[in-house]
Amino acid sequence: MTPTDPTSIEPFPAGLAATPRDADGRYRYRLYVDGRFVDPAGGRWMDTEDPVAGSVWARVPRATSADADAAVEAARRALVAGAWRTLNASQRGALLRRLGDLIAANAEWLARVEMKDNGKLYAELVMQMRYMANYYYYYGGLADKVEGTVIPSDKPGVFNYTKLEPAGVVVCIMPWNSPLPLTSLKLAPALAAGCTVVLKPSEFTSASLLEFVKLVEAAGFPAGVVNVVTGPGAEIGEALVSHPRVDRIAFTGGPDAGRAIAEQAARHMKRVTMELGGKSPNIVFDDADPDDALKGVVAGIFAASGQSCVAGSRLLVQNTIREAFVRRLVEFVSAARFGHPADAATQIAPISTRPQMDKIERYVGIAKAEGARLVCGGARASVPGWPDGLFYRPTIFDGVHNAMRIAQEEVFGPVLAVIGFDTEDEAVEIANDTRYGLAAGVWTTSIRRALTMADRIRAGTVWINNYRMTSTTSPFGGFGMSGVGREGGIAGIREYLEVKSVWVSTATEFPNPFVRR
Ligand code: NAD
Repeated sequence: MTPTDPTSIEPFPAGLAATPRDADGRYRYRLYVDGRFVDPAGGRWMDTEDPVAGSVWARVPRATSADADAAVEAARRALVAGAWRTLNASQRGALLRRLGDLIAANAEWLARVEMKDNGKLYAELVMQMRYMANYYYYYGGLADKVEGTVIPSDKPGVFNYTKLEPAGVVVCIMPWNSPLPLTSLKLAPALAAGCTVVLKPSEFTSASLLEFVKLVEAAGFPAGVVNVVTGPGAEIGEALVSHPRVDRIAFTGGPDAGRAIAEQAARHMKRVTMELGGKSPNIVFDDADPDDALKGVVAGIFAASGQSCVAGSRLLVQNTIREAFVRRLVEFVSAARFGHPADAATQIAPISTRPQMDKIERYVGIAKAEGARLVCGGARASVPGWPDGLFYRPTIFDGVHNAMRIAQEEVFGPVLAVIGFDTEDEAVEIANDTRYGLAAGVWTTSIRRALTMADRIRAGTVWINNYRMTSTTSPFGGFGMSGVGREGGIAGIREYLEVKSVWVSTATEFPNPFVRR
């Protein structure tokens, strides 16, 4: 490997400490607690795999509840005393913007680290990392615009106002599919609100956050404000969620872990933000622009190999155009190129983790057994040069009924279920017949139909003649099993604020409580 090799995470940016390697060349990471990189209390690490090479490239700490405790206590101390507490909101905002500058300056490096960890396309990751700086600019700008109100009270002799205060110590738990952007959607608003945080990345992709936190440190955030602990969800995740000194949980992941966390949080009366899964419908009417709809459907399900919460995994297509549309779809995806994600010519990257590959194969088997008609894919792809890479072919099932498991359960892979419909009412009924409600796409040239569909679909995001558009300025979240709360936009910072009502007497005398007037 040379220093310019896009598959290497080296060289490290100037001014950042290099991550040490073991004798076998694998990187060895440490936890980040109270402003220091430390070994896990139990002295145990986990292997982490490069999904393209199919081999171990790094070791990340397997933290214990003692590490969780140390991280939460550090965050608590930073919240109530010390440098963070003395900063005003404008100064907090300036720190966030400085972090944004560091992210922008090091976007290519962050993309290489993220690619190594989860195997996404480098070209896509570079764009994502550059854009990620905006989260910190946006919430950095918002930090000193968080205003309370003066209440026009109906009580005499009183001045009543509200303040919005930091919610406290926040635990943020992330999945493996977009580790750094999903972290930033929580971290930036939480810090802007004045909270302190403990971050817990997925056990499959912990390295990128342990590299990223070096930029947090370089930006000048005081010790204890941001902490990172790593390990399996059932161990370290639970220890953090149930910790009595944690005030708020922000979670992105699957519905099963989400439910377990929400139950645990309820026991301790902690507020949660939940960004969960989806089974989003991408609805194509026969009056749609056929080329745009085709590209939109492909982008919806096959970008990031379908490992995206908003994946348009159900194609609802009007029966008048269904056969021709599916034929073109199969031609389009069959021509897509596999390869190393660092190669600019590659269009399909690997599946990020081995358990995810197993899950995809399981669901393809389920769909076949349910009687869905496989029209393309349905198998692993072998890619020259990467014999152990976790590649899977774009897979399309036609003739799907919405009651089938393949139409109801999230696969989180490149598997599309095609369902025909005749009328607008039928499309709405099928679209909403799911426990999820994360996103939906509608392809039509009729403005009446577009706006009506946007009204009738139960989902947190509806895209009309586009798909996957998100922005730091816009709220994102789900209905139903897709989640609780919103990330992004002004709604995003409210998740990290508490409202306090302050009553100041303007009366000349406090009344005698035993004398009724
Ligand atoms: P996952 O639920 O298995 O794990 C997510 C995180 O939760 C990991 O860090 C894991 O260690 C932790 N965890 C698991 N069990 C836990 C427990 N009992 N207590 C505390 N922490 C626990 O999800 P995943 O496989 O990493 O990610 C895929 C899922 O994430 C998909 O369902 C996808 O739709 C969802 N997702 C949602 C969004 C969104 O914004 N709505 C975005 C990306 C991914």
